[in-house]
This record gives sequence, C-alpha cells and structure tokens, in this order.
Amino acid sequence: MKRTLLAMMASTILVAGFASTAIAKDKVIAVSWGTKQEERWKTDEAAIKGAIEAAGNKYIFADAQQSAQKQLADVESLIAQGANAILIFAQDGEAIKPALAKAAAEGIPVIAYDRQIEDPNLLYITFDNVGVGRLMGKTMVEKGKKEGNFAFIEGDPGDPNATFLYNGMMETLKPLIDSGKIKNVCETFTDNWKPDNAQKNMEQCLTKTGNKVDAVMSENDGMASGVVAALTAQGMAGSVPVTGQDGDLAALNRVALGTQLVSVWKDSRVLGKVAGEAANALADGKKVSEMAEGKTFKDGAKKVEMSAILIAPVAVTTENLGDVIKAGWISKEKACAGADPAKVAACK
Ligand code: BGC
Repeated sequence: MKRTLLAMMASTILVAGFASTAIAKDKVIAVSWGTKQEERWKTDEAAIKGAIEAAGNKYIFADAQQSAQKQLADVESLIAQGANAILIFAQDGEAIKPALAKAAAEGIPVIAYDRQIEDPNLLYITFDNVGVGRLMGKTMVEKGKKEGNFAFIEGDPGDPNATFLYNGMMETLKPLIDSGKIKNVCETFTDNWKPDNAQKNMEQCLTKTGNKVDAVMSENDGMASGVVAALTAQGMAGSVPVTGQDGDLAALNRVALGTQLVSVWKDSRVLGKVAGEAANALADGKKVSEMAEGKTFKDGAKKVEMSAILIAPVAVTTENLGDVIKAGWISKEKACAGADPAKVAACK
C-alpha cells in the first residue's frame, strides 16, 4: 500500500515536471525595436511573433523610432509590463547598456537581435554580418568592377553592423586598394541608414569626383535606392555596379533591371523564428550558452566573448534571382517587372 502511494506520487511529480518544461505557456516575450524603417523588419517581426504565439506565449513590443534615448525608456516599460524575456534590436549598442542592468536585476534574459550589444550575459542572434560584407566585396570584384574609383556608402556609425560589413568587404578589396587598382574616392557613414542621406552622400561624391565613380559599395538596399537615384540623375545608372543587402523587393527588381549588381539576401523569416524560439526557451529557464550550443562570437569592437547564433547570407544577382522567387520571398511579377527576359533567366 505504502509502496503504491509512493509510486503514484513519483509519477505525479514526473508528469508535473514534464508539463512545466515542455509547455512554455503564458510567458510574456518582449521585443524592443530600435527602428522599423527598412522593409525587412516587418518580416522579422511576423516570424518572431509567430514563434512566440506558437508556444502559447504573448508578444509585446515597443518601437524606439531611431531614438537611443526612447529605447532606454521602452525597455523599462517592457519590464514593467511583465516581460519574461526581451529581444533588443539596438539603435545604439552602447547607449542601451543601462537598460541591460535593469533587466539583469530582475533576472530577465536578453537577446541582442541582429545588432550586437557587447555584453557576455546576452545571447547574440544575427546573420553573419562580416559574411554579408564579404559577399558584397567578392561579388563586386567577380561580377562588377575590380578596378577604378570606388565609393563607400556605409550605414549608421552607431551600428556595429556598419563596421562588420566594411571589414568583410575589405577582405577582398584591401589588397586591390593597396596595389592601386582600386581607388577609394568617397567614404561616408550615413545617419540612421536613411535612403535620403545616402542619396545626398552619393550626390556629393559625384560632384567631388566630376562623376568619375566606377562602383558603389552601399551597405544596404534602402541606401542603394538613394544611390541609384543619384546615379540616374547623371545618366549613370546601370553602368555603375551598386551593392546592397536585405532582399528588399525594389532592390531585387533593380537587380533584374541591371541598376543594382547584388542584394545580399538574409532570410529574416529564419532569423526571426530562431530568435522567437530562443526567447521562449530562455523565458522557460534555459541558459544562454545552451541555446548557442557552445558557439561564441568575439569579433566585436571590445572583443567580448558572447554566446552567439550566426546565420549565413546569400548573394542574389541576375544569375540566381530565381532562388528568391522559388523561396516565396518575392513573386516573379515583382522581381521581373520591366526586366529583359533575354538577360535574366528567372524572368523568362
Ligand atoms: C541590419 C540591416 C539593415 C540596417 C538598417 C542593420 O543593422 O543588419 O539588415 O538594413 O541595419 O536597419
């Protein structure tokens, strides 16, 4: 009799234990967005929200609209709303640090989403940003220009990704710059990655060089739209190869039209899902290091070692435009609008 009771109690405990680890229900998962300016962030958000809700948890968010100061207040407010885990897509990876201290004091796990925040206690989930820059540099040299006057239109100076991208490009370009084949004629950061600011930077570069620009290394698609507008005004669009990233729909169409050489595609449906699921698990008590399966990243400005999940990007040119259509990222109609099917196989 005694034995049976003990056995029953043990099985009840087992069932209760199993239930609490297997179902992460009713946790509140917060995302603090630094910006939602680019088209991609809607896709990231849908994927994160989907993963959170699929586990029975609740998604809450705040958008700092490119204000590092508002983002500090946003994180505090998300904590006050009962967040059990927070993803931070930082407007400024340094300015956000006081908010991390508040989350840590409450025992709330934090994920640095897409942009690095150098803190060893965080889980860093991103695409391989140096890898994105590497693809831009390689594609330019292999399929665009490997000599001449190059302009560098970089992202926001407060975003570590702007530097990671530049470092990746330089793996291919620096030897050519050193040997004198490539001349760096203009190099500017672009406040808040704004397409208008990028257009102005490009216009200034064209004025300064008397239109003697052979290639443009633009760090994302939004800015490439500004760059191509500046080139169009001088009748140079299509003859000057331009880089970008994010797989913006208009950028993929520019690839088909020949006014942009490459858009490095980062499938943010995947990044968002991975991050949403990681947040569910952290809210449920899993450790940051377990989530990254021991993988780390330590190539940030301060060389802080962080548990990290890095996802690989893909360079999209006219040659493989069909892949993003097949992946359901863009319709053939949108990708190929106005394009010459004789030049782009995917548009046949
Ligand atoms: C992201 C890019 C994005 C840019 C502007 C970067 O940190 O990695 O995908 O285009 O920010 O939001």
